[in-house]
Amino acid sequence: MSADHREQQPVQGSRIDPHIGRYAHRTQGMVASEVRALFAVASRPEIVSLAGGMPNVSGLPLEQIGDMVKDVVTEEGPTALQYGSAQGDPALRELLCDYMSLEGIDAAPDDIIVTVGSQQALDLITRVFVDPGDVVLTEAPTYVTAINTFAAFQADIRHVGMDDEGVIPEELEEALVRAQLDGRPVKFFYTIPNFQNPAGITMSTERRAKVIEACERHDVLIVEDNPYGLLRYDGEPRPTLYSQGSGNVVYLGSLSKTFSPGLRIGWALAPSAVRAKLVLAAESAMLSHSTFNQLVVRRYLRTFPWREQIKTFNTMYGERRDAMLSALEAMMPAGCTWTRPEGGFFVWATLPEGIDAKAMMPRAIGARVAYVPGTGFYADGRGRQSMRLSFCYPTPEQIREGVRRLVTAIEGELDL
Ligand code: PMP
Repeated sequence: MSADHREQQPVQGSRIDPHIGRYAHRTQGMVASEVRALFAVASRPEIVSLAGGMPNVSGLPLEQIGDMVKDVVTEEGPTALQYGSAQGDPALRELLCDYMSLEGIDAAPDDIIVTVGSQQALDLITRVFVDPGDVVLTEAPTYVTAINTFAAFQADIRHVGMDDEGVIPEELEEALVRAQLDGRPVKFFYTIPNFQNPAGITMSTERRAKVIEACERHDVLIVEDNPYGLLRYDGEPRPTLYSQGSGNVVYLGSLSKTFSPGLRIGWALAPSAVRAKLVLAAESAMLSHSTFNQLVVRRYLRTFPWREQIKTFNTMYGERRDAMLSALEAMMPAGCTWTRPEGGFFVWATLPEGIDAKAMMPRAIGARVAYVPGTGFYADGRGRQSMRLSFCYPTPEQIREGVRRLVTAIEGELDL
């Protein structure tokens, strides 16, 4: 990643930042994500937003959750309002093992560290493994905030190409060999194997085996980020890399998409030596978790039919995915291509040659639709011709209208 691609701005708004000379070098990698910047525009009521990846929490039984919150205070108040541990509540960790068994993972509570969303797990892993200049391999494109986290720790982010079956093993092998030739240690390969954010692609079972084999051969850790795994609308579940990876995989889970992102409960499942380091890093980052939030989630997982809730979410999101795919099929101009996700929240669309999705944004906003231009999902400025379209939040009708507006914008660009 070139340094100038993510340059820090000395001028903030119309004022010169008086602290500019004081910041640590690592802040040069910290830049506002394009997705966040888009939120302000995308949340205007007249805009159909295909931009944000916000789960549809209004589908949750709010009254029952309200009762759970109250019960946590009245029945477990002294514990809930007290400090806890940085590894996380043991009973919650046990329940997370049950949750992961739905993905075919056999884990023990002690292997888990609870984190503030899986985002904190990404931060802790990078903090523990990455020195400035170390190589982190990721899929191309990949999750924008993972890029920002790796950049904040001054990693040398290198992308590995994907096709319909996920990451391309030959390209992974090439990247591993190239880093070795460059004398740069590869600290880990970061992958989102299910319904990838942003590409919507799921890694095939054969590819999973090849990725594990290549990383083991090069002695490179795999970080498997799987927040969407249980949100599958068709097709067969694939085995996790963790369950096949003989101790060489750190697995990240999250309840943000299957329950609530507001409670910020995620976790990392890691080999014990790594887990111990993550706990130390978590202690220095935040001393202890929110005991309160953990006890709310513990109660939810113990008393609420959460498996049924996930099925309800899958029915709702599946209808939205179908609405988006059929609208794209019916309306997109010739020369556009897009992925067909089996689950998750995202479709990745690529525009005809010569159309720049970022440059098209003002026209799209004029047509009252928002999406995320592809460039945010690469560390090196690629992705101009592509965009991420989310189907998780708008209703099927809004999705159809959003695609209609998007097509108007694309046709406007084609006419230029
Ligand atoms: N990883 C991926 C791939 C994501 O899409 C997200 C949320 N957008 C996260 C991690 C972070 O999720 P959370 O911190 O809410 O668990």
